[in-house]
Amino acid sequence: MTGSGAVVIDGCYVACADEAGREFPTGHVVAQDGVIAAVGAGPADAGRWPGATRIDGSGLLVTPGLVNTHHHLYQWITRGYATDATLFGWLTALYPVWARLTPGLLSDAAAANLAWMALTGCTTTMDHHYVFPRDGGDLLEAEIEAARRIGLRFHATRGSMNLGQRHGGLPPDSLVETHDGILAACQDAVGRWHDPAPDAMTRIALAPCSPFSVTGELMRDCAALARELGVRLHTHLAETSDEESYCQERHGMTPVEYAESLGWLGPDVWLAHCVHLSSPAVRRIASTGTGVAHCPTSNGRLGSGTAPVRALLDAGAVVGLGVDGNASNESGRMVDELHQALLAARAAAQAPSVSARECLAMATLGGARCLGRAAELGSLETGKLADLAVWRVDHLAGAGIADPVVTLVFGAPELEHLFVGGRAVVRDGELTTADPAALAVAAALASAVIAAG
Ligand SMILES: [Zn+2]
Repeated sequence: MTGSGAVVIDGCYVACADEAGREFPTGHVVAQDGVIAAVGAGPADAGRWPGATRIDGSGLLVTPGLVNTHHHLYQWITRGYATDATLFGWLTALYPVWARLTPGLLSDAAAANLAWMALTGCTTTMDHHYVFPRDGGDLLEAEIEAARRIGLRFHATRGSMNLGQRHGGLPPDSLVETHDGILAACQDAVGRWHDPAPDAMTRIALAPCSPFSVTGELMRDCAALARELGVRLHTHLAETSDEESYCQERHGMTPVEYAESLGWLGPDVWLAHCVHLSSPAVRRIASTGTGVAHCPTSNGRLGSGTAPVRALLDAGAVVGLGVDGNASNESGRMVDELHQALLAARAAAQAPSVSARECLAMATLGGARCLGRAAELGSLETGKLADLAVWRVDHLAGAGIADPVVTLVFGAPELEHLFVGGRAVVRDGELTTADPAALAVAAALASAVIAAG
């Protein structure tokens, strides 16, 4: 064994978040060559990694890096709009602003946003990008380049809208693309960027926006194309009662029945929100292996309700967590979603509903399952990719809470280090890949530009 490039964290509390729920109150984690070389109780084998970078883990909690299963990076530069509107009114207010998006603005939004995701514990994020103004340049390339710059594992989904107001949809006609143009762009994105390798930093999925902004024909054809190309499928579903009414009036079905009629339930599909689900819909989502991206902060911000997480977990459904776009989650802290998921479920149930460890499981292995990465991400196990979040739990906010996982989910943990494939993206609380002050200046300028029109 050589010690080159290895990182040894000793004396930390380790929460593996694996199927067995292993935890080591005074344990070790070793990363080498991009993967977890060892994890367990007590100190790491002292002679095995000569020359390794050694981190004193006292007062630290190590968890898998958090996996964000629903997001819209571009919205970082349109925060604070329509703060008292529900989804349809909020979208209608924002579409004309978003229509001014350019690759340069998206690059600034994505870089700032991804840096913030890293600083709040996220090692893998997806992005659902569906705003493609006519002659708007190469937007997907801009965000993929930003993700490479900041150093997060990135699943870009090629979103789309083709049902404008003229045909009964919600978005303005100027912001929709053609059916054939969308399918060609999806195929192009997969060909250019999708990496199927287990250690992939960039993957692509196909993601028509929602039942009220795309046609059923596009949903069906995207599903067929994704299955032909071997990539996953994502969309918004059952987010609000307005959407439920829309689907009933237009299709005579609930959103989940409509999705199923188009081939959109299955183990290669994950759906954002799933707030408004009947008991049969919960069972159908679980039995088909369809993933759910639960976004409690965004659902609260827009007054949408909250997903029936307890019922989904009890039915055996795959559930991950998502921050959702920052126009409906201005704080955008990934670690906060664990806290919000816990509070939202308990407030809705008027009972202790989900536990801290279930929230950690959703944010890690649950998210990895949504993205089709459970074999290599989402838990601390030897041989999995070395994507680690290292939290300080003995600081002013945390000291005195006996259980570090309680500090993580109920309390106010501080991120100390973040490793993606063994590379330190955050070290001693500081981003290593970019200057946050410069990112903030660029994002503020971009916000002013897109606001001004
Ligand atoms: Zn969304």
